[in-house]
Amino acid sequence: MSTGTERHEFQTEVRELLDLMIHSLYSHKDIFLRELISNASDALDKLRFEMLSRPELTPEGELEIRLEADKDARTLSVHDNGIGMSRDEVVANIGTIARSGTREFLRAMHDSAAAEGPDSLRDRSVGGLGGASRAPQEMIGQFGVGFYSSFMVADRITLVTRRAGEATATRWESTGDGYTLDDAERVSAGTTVTLHLKPKDEEDGLKDYTDALTLKDIVKRYSDFVTYPIRLKAETLNSMKAIWARGKDEITEEEHREFYKHISHDWNDPLEHISVHVEGNFEARALLYIPSKAPFDLHMRDGVHRGLQLFVKRVFIMDDWRELLPPYLRFVRGVVASDDLSLNVSREILQKDRQVQAIKRHLVRRILAALKEMKEQRPETYGTFWTEFGAVLKEGMISFEDSHDKILDLVLAPSTESAPPIGLKDYVARMKDGQDAIYYMTGTSRDAAARSPHLEAFRARGWEVLFFVDPVDELWLRLPRQFEGKTLVSAATSDLKIGTDEEKAREEEARKASEESLKDVLLALRAALQDEVKDVRLSTRLTESPACLVGDAGDLSPQMQELLRRAGQEVPKVKRVLELNPNHQVMTKLRQLHALDAKDPRLAMYAELLYGQALLAEGGALPDPAAFSRRLTELMLQT
Ligand code: ADP
Ligand code: MG
Repeated sequence: MSTGTERHEFQTEVRELLDLMIHSLYSHKDIFLRELISNASDALDKLRFEMLSRPELTPEGELEIRLEADKDARTLSVHDNGIGMSRDEVVANIGTIARSGTREFLRAMHDSAAAEGPDSLRDRSVGGLGGASRAPQEMIGQFGVGFYSSFMVADRITLVTRRAGEATATRWESTGDGYTLDDAERVSAGTTVTLHLKPKDEEDGLKDYTDALTLKDIVKRYSDFVTYPIRLKAETLNSMKAIWARGKDEITEEEHREFYKHISHDWNDPLEHISVHVEGNFEARALLYIPSKAPFDLHMRDGVHRGLQLFVKRVFIMDDWRELLPPYLRFVRGVVASDDLSLNVSREILQKDRQVQAIKRHLVRRILAALKEMKEQRPETYGTFWTEFGAVLKEGMISFEDSHDKILDLVLAPSTESAPPIGLKDYVARMKDGQDAIYYMTGTSRDAAARSPHLEAFRARGWEVLFFVDPVDELWLRLPRQFEGKTLVSAATSDLKIGTDEEKAREEEARKASEESLKDVLLALRAALQDEVKDVRLSTRLTESPACLVGDAGDLSPQMQELLRRAGQEVPKVKRVLELNPNHQVMTKLRQLHALDAKDPRLAMYAELLYGQALLAEGGALPDPAAFSRRLTELMLQT
């Protein structure tokens, strides 16, 4: 069933990625070898796992990775006798990037590089395409530079591979612009990648990758922990010590960095490493890493799930966090190893296995404790963590978990007093006399929330208000939350009274008095706005603005409604309360109008304008902008 030579184009994303890589990673050429060895090691892991159920796949020789260099031909080959690939798998894995959202991400990356430079979008919140504000080098790391990095040193690459259990082999060849596929011969299963190296050019910094010393050096540096022998002629270049089996203090920072890159497929250094040792009825070890950058698809439904590997009795079982961590810790990478679990594991078994569940609980506890320590001891590092992963961590407070309080303790948020985010402990420490709650404001961004009229009374008193501006905030804040005995209260709740008891009493009295004098005006306004709001009341919270909108505790906020609508959900219209500032001149004017002619059509018009203003002030959208601007024009023409 020979299909002859087929010519294929690279997927557009692959071409773009290749282009970016060659132009942004040129000073790190050596890493191509780490990537090829990493792939070979993955392929051996997969074979060893498949051998558990299909012993006939066991190769004749030892599982190994072999390097072969030819100085004269200027070629370097990396052989493995791992799982190999079928022809279809070659097409799917090499030449295609399957991660959803890649195209959008690459486009955003191009756009941001073309725009005002790398920092222009840095203020955006984590997630979505926020990562596009970073330098290309950092961003490209999110894909795991992978196989294509070989094009930094080679102008032609040949890959010959044969899937374990299959008889035919496939040859893939590329000069960087599309590729060809052919049938091929290979004595046994596995993969050989041969690089036809670019001409050696010292000035360009290109090393001689056919030189034994150079190769040894690179393997030692980047791939020492690989658990299969990496051989050059008869010599084994790596020590093969499983890194997680070693003592905590025996691992250097550099080893951590390289091991992290190997398992995470990330190009950047990790932010933090956590060693875990579970002891008791059974034993398990874990080496966990917190990345320094969020991958671009962290928030996407089908986003990354690789990067946490499970080994049982040294056999790789799977590379997926979903059985070992709750979703809100999905950013953690690393390896979990135990000799006490059964090798006979499947995903279904893992979900029920009591020991696996115990490991999971242990990991959660250790990760949260490590984060707490980081927050207290190294606030700057924690700040980086929070920027990248805070929004994901907060998802933990809407899960069926018992860690809500621990997570709340880790929360940071900017405030009216502080642009850099602060913790709740700091907030509580500087609460003012008479203040008995933790106040917050939600919104789409810190700037939008900061402009809200709801904050006027807080500003007037010097009371700090926290800003929660991630979409997930609306969700976890719907449940009553307490920190150190203080309740978290939205500054946009209706009937909110702040101040000392005396102040509250005094204000309430003043409000009653104005209510009496404005009673008829309020009635007229209510009638005019009955389709828009559920009530029109006088407020004690406004000092400058004439009006604001407030919701009842537990009501969906406008941001939340918008979010649900975008997610395709039907959201009933939630009416809020329009609060008016009784001391504002506008109110005096309305009372005069009403006194002169209770049926003055301008009353209804002003009511709508006040409502529109309140919406605009909180950064919301007008239901009918055209009507609003018509009203304004009419108003300008009246004198
Ligand atoms: P990643 O390793 O992050 O998936 P790569 O670009 O390094 O990305 O490799 C792409 C895919 O090609 C791998 O996921 C794997 O499926 C396949 N592949 C690469 N090298 C090998 C190999 N030596 N043996 C088997 N499959 C391989
Ligand atoms: Mg790889």
